[in-house]
Amino acid sequence: MELQERPETCVVAVDGPSGSGKSTVSRRLAVAVEGVYLDTGAMYRAVTWAVLNAGVDLGDPDAIAKIALETELSIGTDPLAPHFAANGTNVDEAIRGAEVTGAVSAVAAVPSVRKHLVTLQKAIIDGHPRIIVEGRDIAAVVAPDADLKVYLTASAAARAARRSGENGSDVAATEADLARRDKLDSSRATDPLRQASDALEVDTTGMGIDEVVAHLLHLLNSKVSK
Ligand code: C5P
Repeated sequence: MELQERPETCVVAVDGPSGSGKSTVSRRLAVAVEGVYLDTGAMYRAVTWAVLNAGVDLGDPDAIAKIALETELSIGTDPLAPHFAANGTNVDEAIRGAEVTGAVSAVAAVPSVRKHLVTLQKAIIDGHPRIIVEGRDIAAVVAPDADLKVYLTASAAARAARRSGENGSDVAATEADLARRDKLDSSRATDPLRQASDALEVDTTGMGIDEVVAHLLHLLNSKVSK
């Protein structure tokens, strides 16, 4: 299903745990509405890359915050090629590696890191008429006035199977890592992963990508044509 008419403006917030299909679905939606795509997880990952690169102790929130504020991020929003750089170095591959993935939840739990990145995220949203934003706290914190707020879920097994299909990792190890990150992201004090009260839950277990995208376009149609 396609949008009958491209909306003049729209902000769509896509939250959910790792492996729920957020990235693929958000990129496809952005293409469908001829808009841009903001991967806020990649922003936390890029800062984590800089923190690791600087050799900072992950138990030292002040040192982490200092690096976060000093790091110059280049944030790609093209849904077909969302490239990221930190301090002039392309980090597209590095931010998906095990080292960054293992450390990102600790960095994302530091309140001043979140404050800084949320400010950048809001400015990017304000600068684009049509934008799909994916993350953990988009509906509740970053874009509370979004036109459509969805919370994507899927069973732990389905999420692990998708992730290991993407990166060739062992399914059981991936499921354990997703559970570890979900726990850290849901239990942190500042802006934890949680479904916003006004977000629509979409369980993507057993659904193909085309089906999920069609469903979200349908929801967006009903919101923006009101
Ligand atoms: O979405 P992705 O798995 O790339 O996100 C990496 C990590 O970044 C998450 O596990 C979470 O710790 C953090 N994150 C966050 N808030 C967001 C997006 C991501 O805390 N809006």
